[in-house]
Amino acid sequence: MTFNQLPLNPNLLKNLSALGYQQASEIQQQAIPLALAGHDLMACAQTGTGKTAAFCLPILQALSQQKRTHHIQALIITPTRELAQQVHQNLENYAKGCEFNCALVYGGVSIEKQQLALKQACNIVVATPGRILDHLKRGSCDLKHLQHLVLDEADRMLDLGFKDELRALFKYLPQLRQTMLFSATLDESIYRFAKPWLNQAKQLDI
Ligand code: AMP
Repeated sequence: MTFNQLPLNPNLLKNLSALGYQQASEIQQQAIPLALAGHDLMACAQTGTGKTAAFCLPILQALSQQKRTHHIQALIITPTRELAQQVHQNLENYAKGCEFNCALVYGGVSIEKQQLALKQACNIVVATPGRILDHLKRGSCDLKHLQHLVLDEADRMLDLGFKDELRALFKYLPQLRQTMLFSATLDESIYRFAKPWLNQAKQLDI
């Protein structure tokens, strides 16, 4: 399946073409239509399968169909700073010309600069769990208008001991939202942890 066969707007298609993407990968073919239809997802997909575009593109498509706002509408949580940087870079590539502000938030660096970025009407935030929680506790960001949540590499987040941070984070999120979980493995511990936060999630196994 090519990207042109997916219901994505011309600007996104142009960006994908400029990046040299032609065929949608297996996870993209399966996840994008379901995510665009508003379903929650629980997807088993390894790094290298194209999972980043599988969750970024539906978010960008959905936001592009709405009036511009100054709120955070999508949050992507990753286990590490390196992955956050990588996802943010991909997101910026896919979103070129879309006029969304994307912020990158991770620990180990000055919090003040990030506070400024978060105040500047950002629409999509890519973050690690501890640092975004820190911002929420300080009141430097507000997720009341969040529509899309992605938990990327959820298995690694649990392995790295982020369970408590994630539980605390969920308290700041609106009930009505789309949640997409991606994980290299989907074992019993992931199910048990994620179940309360997902709503009739469609399961994908690549
Ligand atoms: P990911 O699994 O999201 O980390 O993606 C792995 C690599 O594949 C990244 O370098 C992406 O830019 C690239 N990629 C993702 N989807 C496609 C595609 N449909 N066609 C070509 N390259 C892709």
